[in-house]
Amino acid sequence: MKATTLTNLSFDYVIVGAGPAGCVLAARLSEDANTSVALIEAGGSDTTNWVTMPAGLIGTVPTKRHNWAFETVPQVGLNGRKGYQPRGKVMGGSSSINAMCYVRGHASDYDAWAAEGCTGWSWNDVLPYFIKSEGNLAGIDNHLHGKKGPLKVSKQQSPSSFNEYFLKAAVQCGFNSTDDFNGDMQDGVGYYHVMQENGVRCNAVKAYLTGTESRTNLSIFKNTNVNRVVIENNQAKGIECSQTSGQSITILANREVILSAGAFGSPQLLMLSGVGPKEHLSALGIPVIADRSHVGKNLQDHLDCLITRRYNDDRLFGPTLKAIFNFRSVWQEYKHKKTGKIASNFSESGGFIRTKADLDKPDVQLHFVVAPGDNHGRTRHWGQGYALHVCNLRPYSRGTVSLASSDPALAPLIDPNFLSDDRDLQTMVRAYRAGQAILQSEVFADVRGKALVKEPALDDDAAIEQYLRNRSDTIYHPVGTCRMGSDADSVVDLQLRVRGVAGLRVIDASIMPTLIGGNTNAPTIMIAEKAADLLRQNLS
Ligand SMILES: Cc1cc2nc3c(=O)[nH]c(=O)nc-3n(C[C@H](O)[C@H](O)[C@H](O)COP(=O)(O)OP(=O)(O)OC[C@H]3O[C@@H](n4cnc5c(N)ncnc54)[C@H](O)[C@@H]3O)c2cc1C
Repeated sequence: MKATTLTNLSFDYVIVGAGPAGCVLAARLSEDANTSVALIEAGGSDTTNWVTMPAGLIGTVPTKRHNWAFETVPQVGLNGRKGYQPRGKVMGGSSSINAMCYVRGHASDYDAWAAEGCTGWSWNDVLPYFIKSEGNLAGIDNHLHGKKGPLKVSKQQSPSSFNEYFLKAAVQCGFNSTDDFNGDMQDGVGYYHVMQENGVRCNAVKAYLTGTESRTNLSIFKNTNVNRVVIENNQAKGIECSQTSGQSITILANREVILSAGAFGSPQLLMLSGVGPKEHLSALGIPVIADRSHVGKNLQDHLDCLITRRYNDDRLFGPTLKAIFNFRSVWQEYKHKKTGKIASNFSESGGFIRTKADLDKPDVQLHFVVAPGDNHGRTRHWGQGYALHVCNLRPYSRGTVSLASSDPALAPLIDPNFLSDDRDLQTMVRAYRAGQAILQSEVFADVRGKALVKEPALDDDAAIEQYLRNRSDTIYHPVGTCRMGSDADSVVDLQLRVRGVAGLRVIDASIMPTLIGGNTNAPTIMIAEKAADLLRQNLS
């Protein structure tokens, strides 16, 4: 198809990426009828069952459906394997394919941001934005929670009773139980609260864009890939994009361009636009507008290992003849009542634990999955099972995102550099032992099943290390690649303005200076809620 070009579009704010951050910003900034906003998204509509039905993630996370499905470069720390990095390519971004666990992290994570120089981002500073965004339907009503916010947080509709084995075993191992991972104390095991309303996924579109359809000052461009930011005299003027129809568009920003393209997309776009490490850009023939050596650096992610057991029990997921025959009734139950297995996020219970006595907060997160998870769901096995994810909450390893080419159609080079710091391996070894202590406890005696792959003995450090290097990978929380800071090297300042270019901000998970100890969707929404206030304050 021959490309055509349109250039006469202009808006006050042009937001790139309709993930959690982009949707929050589009909704909040367009609350003012005198402010025009464009929201640009590479993916398409989120109104498919794959997105709305919680269990639909089984059809998106392992595939290219609504998913960029990135790979990492080979990881030395993972015995040369390439990691997998699913990311939502759809309205709602990764909030349309994620596991919906509602977790904010530990209060001290944000106090650490402030201590590192991010004044205004301490726990006390960010808590009001968590509360503002939250619409708690789980019956938790205290000073830490919000009931009136757009992001609906619920108890699960129909968690499997099989979770009770995990919960009882963990308590027997000495961990306490909790009904709120976002309470005064994060420690403990329990059921996850989920970003759902009445058994339907509450992605960022449902939470923030529902009700904005009648706003004439908000324009949404789907299936539109942004190729670069147009920058003249170090001032962002707009963006250049291509639509799947073959049309090229330039959209101008009267006030600001905001990148909310996520931890891989935002640094990629900065570099494609000439903002990044000079030598790297020059080597690819990209004219350098601002030599910003830290763009794409500081990548941090939660490394996770999945311990999987095969065990046939109808309280668990997995393909069996009976499950296939029963699917019609499972479907009817969900269709009419929004309950049953289709309302499951699979990671139904879990916990935050300390694997050493001298720690002041949990260092490991657990997700207990009522399915025989393996290789992000990309390797399927016949039969049912269960699995325990163990992940290192505060990694020391730092990776990078860089460009493979100056062609915006090509994926960036993603290098999480997993296990490059030995302290991360030590935490993962302790996490593995803690996970095995739970799974090997007496509580599981009658439902132990069979290990999916041979598991190393608990006293064999070398074998545990190899098992971890052969089986670990992301649990989907990349951050930090457009680091916020008050130091001159940071990519964005404390108001999330890109240093070296006027009229340009990055607002998404990539601005986190350090990874928080928990899942990252609610923290990203908090960041965007706070940033929307900063943008509005700048105007007044
Ligand atoms: C499989 C999975 C499971 C997860 N589970 C959980 C969980 O249970 N709980 C939790 O809290 N967090 C979870 N997360 C993490 C959470 O979803 C992310 O932290 C969050 O979505 C990050 O939001 P973001 O706005 O920074 O980026 P994203 O969600 O990645 O959104 C970025 C958007 O920008 C678009 N975009 C990128 N480049 C371009 C371009 N060039 N042009 C136009 N558009 C572009 C993308 O298509 C996307 O829509 C999970 C993530 C994944 C992938």
